Amino acid sequence: MLFALTVFSLAAQLQDPAPGIAAPLAQRRAATISSVRYDLAFRIEAPVKHADCEATLRFALDEAGAKEPLVVDFDGEVRARAQVNGAAWEAVRVADHFVVPPHLLRNGENELRFSVRSPAAPAGTPLTVYRDAADGAEYCYTLVVPADAHRLYPCFDQPDLKATFDVSLRIPKDWSAIGNGVASSAEDGEAQRRWTFSTTKPLPTYLMAFACGPFAKIESPLPAIPGIEQGSTLRTWFRESERKNLDEPTLLRMHGEGLQWLCGYFGEPYPFDKLDIVLLPGFPYGGMEHAGAIFYREKALSFDHEPTAGELARRSALVYHELSHQWFGNLVTMRWFDDLWLKEGFATFVAHEAMAVLEPEKKAWLRFLQRVKPRAYEVDATPGTVPVFQELANLADAKSAYGPIVYNKAPAVLRELDDRLGSATFRDGVHRFLAKHRFGNASWRDLADALQQAAKSDLSRWSERWLLSPSLPRVRVAWERGADGSVVSARVLQEAVDGQGTWPLRVELLVVGSGGAMRPLRVECDGAETKVDELIGAKDVACIVPNPRDVAYAQFLPDATSSAWMLAHAAGIEDALLRAVLFGCLFEAVREAEVDPAAFAESALDAIARERDADTHAWMLDMFGTCVMRYLPEERAVELRERAEETLLGQLGEAKSGRELPILRWLSRNGKGAGAMRLCRAVALGVAEDTPPHVVAGKEDRFAALAALLARTDTEADQEALVENVRAAFAGQDVERETFLARAAIGTEANKQRCFDSYLRLDAPPEQWAQDSLGNFHWPGQAPLTKPFLARALEKAQWVKANRRIFFMPAWLDAFVNAHADADALAIVDAAIANDGLDQDVKKKLLQSRDGLARAVRIRERFGSAR
Ligand SMILES: [Zn+2]
Repeated sequence: MLFALTVFSLAAQLQDPAPGIAAPLAQRRAATISSVRYDLAFRIEAPVKHADCEATLRFALDEAGAKEPLVVDFDGEVRARAQVNGAAWEAVRVADHFVVPPHLLRNGENELRFSVRSPAAPAGTPLTVYRDAADGAEYCYTLVVPADAHRLYPCFDQPDLKATFDVSLRIPKDWSAIGNGVASSAEDGEAQRRWTFSTTKPLPTYLMAFACGPFAKIESPLPAIPGIEQGSTLRTWFRESERKNLDEPTLLRMHGEGLQWLCGYFGEPYPFDKLDIVLLPGFPYGGMEHAGAIFYREKALSFDHEPTAGELARRSALVYHELSHQWFGNLVTMRWFDDLWLKEGFATFVAHEAMAVLEPEKKAWLRFLQRVKPRAYEVDATPGTVPVFQELANLADAKSAYGPIVYNKAPAVLRELDDRLGSATFRDGVHRFLAKHRFGNASWRDLADALQQAAKSDLSRWSERWLLSPSLPRVRVAWERGADGSVVSARVLQEAVDGQGTWPLRVELLVVGSGGAMRPLRVECDGAETKVDELIGAKDVACIVPNPRDVAYAQFLPDATSSAWMLAHAAGIEDALLRAVLFGCLFEAVREAEVDPAAFAESALDAIARERDADTHAWMLDMFGTCVMRYLPEERAVELRERAEETLLGQLGEAKSGRELPILRWLSRNGKGAGAMRLCRAVALGVAEDTPPHVVAGKEDRFAALAALLARTDTEADQEALVENVRAAFAGQDVERETFLARAAIGTEANKQRCFDSYLRLDAPPEQWAQDSLGNFHWPGQAPLTKPFLARALEKAQWVKANRRIFFMPAWLDAFVNAHADADALAIVDAAIANDGLDQDVKKKLLQSRDGLARAVRIRERFGSAR
């Protein structure tokens, strides 16, 4: 009965397929189709409104596949009759597909030809057009991950039907083109040029890409890299106007050394024939790892100011992340997007391994603690969290898999596994996995098998808890002293934050004496309570620090005795990583309403006054800012904030330290005093005599300072004068994005309404501008003005999910929900969650965002009044 039902539903899905690509359809095609080759000839004319494509699909069908309808995915415009194995065929779309009848198909080789058109726009289309406001030039690029390839050309849009691609582009003759293969070009009539790319290695549809436009290029020789021909070059493509900001030698060094190191780490040569990198304006992600042609957001790689330590670390992590993908994702691809974590988790983990070796001064694991893990903890401790491995019924929902669980938690649990197995064993397993599935597909089970073989140990319990179960353990050390002061009882307690069970966890403890002496301990615990016998009888224990090397992934909370010691001593800890562990642990206790945010802020301010590591300084400022701007009522925050402003303005007067721009950014957004405002005015308007000597702001920071002024300027005439004044300083440059962002901070109802309306339009502005301006829309202190938009934003969440790219919807929810800290806003969010019609995925993401707001409300209830 079950069998008959399955067959019936599959037949129905083949005859009348639902929108998107349902998992059973993908599985059926993977079983019946093989040897897929795409020949894609695109034609693009300026001004760009669409791309035309002559697409030829060649593939083999097995006997069963040739006897049933064949579903080809496409969601675009058909321009002419199609051909199936040489016979003309009227291709009619059924949802996002064509259904080819079996009588036209044959067992063995088949060929389909289509003539199609796909629209191009600044947002919402698989081919994006960016129009440079300064010179009117157009730059186009494809971005089809996870499920938009079939909006560009007919295909089998699923990752496990890998295909070779032969791509050509006819484009205006003064343009260049970049694709996955090696390019050659020839004139094609008066106004056009035809670019042809060599046949690719087998790729999933989401990795085929091209970019074209009047790009400038720098070509530099790469060092010897296994897999790439000797004498090969790295080609860097960019807008000519960015040339002055481009640090090409550094980009070359990072990509060259990165590839060399990764070849060694993975034990596999570089899998593709060449590497181009393209810097794209308005690119909605930091980077996208297209095989052999990595696309980057221009602003993630090049800076118009001396970059901060944080920006440089983020750039390195991004470059090594995209390079790692050439193996993890591109050489071996997940079978289905339920295993998205496999490529993202590895790319981020390996990126930090690479950074730790290649650029030790960047302190990769300290950055991992500060910038990667907190986002995972924020989401994983909410009822909206999901397992690392996420079931996916239809590729149309693949967007929902993206988020901090795959990008932040997955690398953190991999790091723990690397430490648990030992790096050499872990790498051996990774190598076995890559070698076995080279140019093919694999799932987490294949990885677990390979690691088990290498480790000669059973990882099923580990996989079950860390990959397949949601949430994380909350870990505390409970210990007591007897009358003589020595420890009489000590236990590690583990409880599920949200969910059930316990996790296999190796907990390290650092036992600190009153004089500062430190002793490490290790406890294996996979139960609610584990005794720590080594601690019994210990004398002179002042503090127990859990997870001092930050290797384990769990919410570690300090006991009351230890947190008191940490608050008093954390700022003075010499070791940078341990100092950060202490502040991270304390901040978790603040988020749990167990430590007064004022006490934390006091301790943090002490650290900020002394901190020399510029990125740690910026991280501390973030946490301090959350306490004084969000967790504490104004009457308890004001004195702390005033002292911070004084400290920070003082630091701007000291010798150059790299802390200048983070301080400026913090003061622009959070400063209220006269000194901070004077600084913003000086930076925005370029008043040299009021600008501290080491504050050299680029375009973005000057407009951020302008935003601070606009938020405090009342009349429209004055606002416009300020905007014009700053724009005049950038005459001839493209500052439309920065102007758009700055204006979002203007504190009038009419302005907020204007911004909000623009967020819901697809024609303009570029999607990334909208996303980037959400923070300014919610300028500090404007909560009463923006609160009416909260319910409206939640009502539009489904539209946002359907029409915007992967990261937009969570950013949207987070911005609108977490701009507030009161019970009123929480009630609005809860009403939206209670709505039965809410999409389940939106609901999960909303539950994630709600958590931050609920914590703020709880903390303010507990610590709102002076004590
Ligand atoms: Zn990635």
